[in-house]
This record gives sequence, C-alpha cells and structure tokens, in this order.
Amino acid sequence: MFVCPLCNQLEEPQYICRNCQQRMADEGRLMDYFDDYSAYLDIDGMKLFNGYPIDQKDHQCPHVFSCVNCSKQYVHLIEEVEL
Ligand SMILES: [Zn+2]
Ligand SMILES: [Zn+2]
Repeated sequence: MFVCPLCNQLEEPQYICRNCQQRMADEGRLMDYFDDYSAYLDIDGMKLFNGYPIDQKDHQCPHVFSCVNCSKQYVHLIEEVEL
C-alpha cells in the first residue's frame, strides 16, 4: 500500500520558495485545496487535464505549498512511499 508521507505525517516537508528562498508551508493536498485554486498557482511538473491532475496512478500526491514570506504558492508532487 502506498501512502503519502506528508498526509500521514511521516515526513516534514522542506520546500524553499523559488521567489524569496524562504520556507514554504504545506497547505495540504491539492484535491482538498481545489476550491481555492488560483490561476497564479505554479504547477511543478504536473500533467493537467482541464486543470485536473491525472497522475494519481503514479503514486504521487500533489500538495499545495505557500511561502510564509511572500505568499507565493506552488504545487509539488509528493512521492508516496510503500508501507
Ligand atoms: Zn499527500
Ligand atoms: Zn517566497
């Protein structure tokens, strides 16, 4: 069984803002966040189909991160780990 290490609190995300090099905070899964989805969101290597990620089968969990400093948001695909 594959689980996302961030959703299951197995790992602390350590992502750095590309804009200002500050730490970014995990805002949760993209799916949970989708209501607030913004046009300026920067998709990092994610395949989108009509705005929806289609890569769930690849054991990746898209998370939204927002910079604590400049509020810029990015999506990172988190590799799920097998338990
Ligand atoms: Zn996750
Ligand atoms: Zn920033």
